[in-house]
Amino acid sequence: MNKAVVIGAGIAGLITARMLSEYYKEVYIVERDELPTAPAIRQGTPQSFHPHRVLPRGHMILERCFPGYTHELIEHGAHTSDAEEMVLVNQFGILVFRPPIVSASSSRALLEWVLRRRLQNIHNVHFLTNTEVIGLMSSEDHKTITGIYTKKRSKNKQEGMLTADMVIDTAGRSSKVIKSLNSLGYTVPDPEVLKVSLGYSTQYYKIPRQMEQQWRSVVSEAQPAKGKMTGMLLRIEDNIAGTLLFSAGGENYPSAKPDEFQEELKKSKCV
Ligand SMILES: Cc1cc2nc3c(=O)[nH]c(=O)nc-3n(C[C@H](O)[C@H](O)[C@H](O)COP(=O)(O)OP(=O)(O)OC[C@H]3O[C@@H](n4cnc5c(N)ncnc54)[C@H](O)[C@@H]3O)c2cc1C
Repeated sequence: MNKAVVIGAGIAGLITARMLSEYYKEVYIVERDELPTAPAIRQGTPQSFHPHRVLPRGHMILERCFPGYTHELIEHGAHTSDAEEMVLVNQFGILVFRPPIVSASSSRALLEWVLRRRLQNIHNVHFLTNTEVIGLMSSEDHKTITGIYTKKRSKNKQEGMLTADMVIDTAGRSSKVIKSLNSLGYTVPDPEVLKVSLGYSTQYYKIPRQMEQQWRSVVSEAQPAKGKMTGMLLRIEDNIAGTLLFSAGGENYPSAKPDEFQEELKKSKCV
């Protein structure tokens, strides 16, 4: 098979491109952002400001697709999970444990950067950045998707197209795939939407040198009836602690103002 196109260079896009690179002669990842050359938060994935955890199953999949990625993260300052205890606090008590598998605790920006670099070294994977996918190309009878229409995000907004034998959309929540299929005359089942109204607020702190060795990650579960939010203290690379509060329901979101956030953190008793 000749050419595959993956829309979006988020985690799903990177894993998809990695898998397709074994089966297609050329794989193009088309991303609307200019991808940073160093680990950095970018516009297209605003959620990456908040701490992200890779759960055990995701970790296994990533290790299979990108062998040794955990060690690469650690080499770039991420923290190894077996080096510290985790504390889980809820209304029934406190559980202190060591995570059963070794993973690396990093920012999402570092994780994406490490995976991206791996792909940049695969000869048949190409990145087209600063390029927004604006529609799907199809055969005359609309039965086959034959490629994508694109628009550059630079000043001249140059439009283009890219033919492909396979197009996979991993554009996440801003995917235009339903709109594109509608415009080709396909009806798409109404999605079932479950609105959870999660609200996150995160502050980052440098862990003091004298605390680096005794540091423990903490997860404190919410007790909504008591107005207590979920709190997390998680170490990422370079001995920085991501401190996160979140609540569901849409009525009582954690504050994004540092002083108020500190007060809410005390109330959540996760420190
Ligand atoms: C606050 C918060 C915390 C979270 N914490 C965790 C966590 O701890 N662990 C976890 O596993 N998950 C977590 N998630 C969920 C996780 O962020 C998402 O599931 C994940 O990002 C989805 O990845 P994705 O690659 O499918 O989409 P995205 O990460 O959204 O990536 C989509 C990509 O497509 C690009 N794109 C979009 N439209 C176009 C277009 N038209 N043309 C070209 N490119 C386009 C975007 O720029 C982006 O790069 C969290 C989410 C939030 C909001």
